[in-house]
Amino acid sequence: SRAMSKSGERTFLAVKPDGVQRGLVGDIISRFEKRGYKLVALKLQQVSEDHLRKHYADLKGKPFFEGLVKFMASGPLVAMVWEGLDVVKQGRAMLGETNPLASKPGSIRGDYSIDMGRNICHGSDSVESAKKEIELWFDAKDLCDYKKANDVWVY
Ligand code: ADP
Ligand code: MG
Repeated sequence: SRAMSKSGERTFLAVKPDGVQRGLVGDIISRFEKRGYKLVALKLQQVSEDHLRKHYADLKGKPFFEGLVKFMASGPLVAMVWEGLDVVKQGRAMLGETNPLASKPGSIRGDYSIDMGRNICHGSDSVESAKKEIELWFDAKDLCDYKKANDVWVY
């Protein structure tokens, strides 16, 4: 079915250094677990500016680009891969808008932030960018292939 074909969809999510500093890692993971998504990979890591320039390559030339790269490299972040039905689009909805002030209460950014440059989390914006981002951040061997109890009742 169409639903089944999208049930293996994956997205790259990150809790940015501000989210780690503010102790929001557990809350963010919890939201995706409770929604019914499956955690496929996870690491806490401080990454280089060079790595972040690759991650944000599409934004090169924007006035906020250098500040964004420096901020993202300023402390450890939590990089994750989540899997499940429509997870790219639903993940973005769970994050909220890029600008926290435009984000609805109930979304991560809408609940916890007011500053565009400190909006706590990252999520892939399309299935294509998810593929690229997952490859950039994780080795294929670190993506876990397992059955979760959820699979039984969600699908
Ligand atoms: P999103 O993270 O929602 O996909 P973008 O990919 O457009 O948003 O931008 C990446 C990140 O850069 C945003 O999450 C935000 O932290 C920062 N950013 C985007 N636009 C601005 C801006 N106008 N001023 C400052 N920071 C910005
Ligand atoms: Mg983006």
